[in-house]
Amino acid sequence: MASPRKPLYEVRSSKIHGTGIFAVRQIRQGTRVMEYVGERISTEEGDSRYGDDESEHPHVLLFGVDEHTVIDGAVDGNDAKYINHSCDPNCEAVIIDGRVFINAIRTIREGEELTYDYQLDYPYERDDAASKQYACHCGAENCRGTMLAV
Ligand SMILES: [Zn+2]
Repeated sequence: MASPRKPLYEVRSSKIHGTGIFAVRQIRQGTRVMEYVGERISTEEGDSRYGDDESEHPHVLLFGVDEHTVIDGAVDGNDAKYINHSCDPNCEAVIIDGRVFINAIRTIREGEELTYDYQLDYPYERDDAASKQYACHCGAENCRGTMLAV
């Protein structure tokens, strides 16, 4: 039996985007992999921190907890901020009492990249620039082409 303390994942570079999280052993469906942590700020503060054209994917490190609160994974965040988006994910983000947990929605094999569907709430007009900025390259058969919520 694997020790429960042995890490579930490691951080390394990803083909999807930048850095990713990869299973280093099998992760069973339903496992709570980690919590998405970071500074809790208002949605207004989040929008002003990550203006329209400041970075490649300005909103992807913000996790919307509710309509008033977002978690900024870039400030005091943990490895959860490295989990990439996929349109055919193996994890999901679950909000419980204002906290965000990343759970495995199917059994994940050793070596697989952990992903969840960002379903990004984009507060601006969805023009071509936005579509390009949030384009999805997850490679899934059912890829919807964007990390934004539809
Ligand atoms: Zn996709």
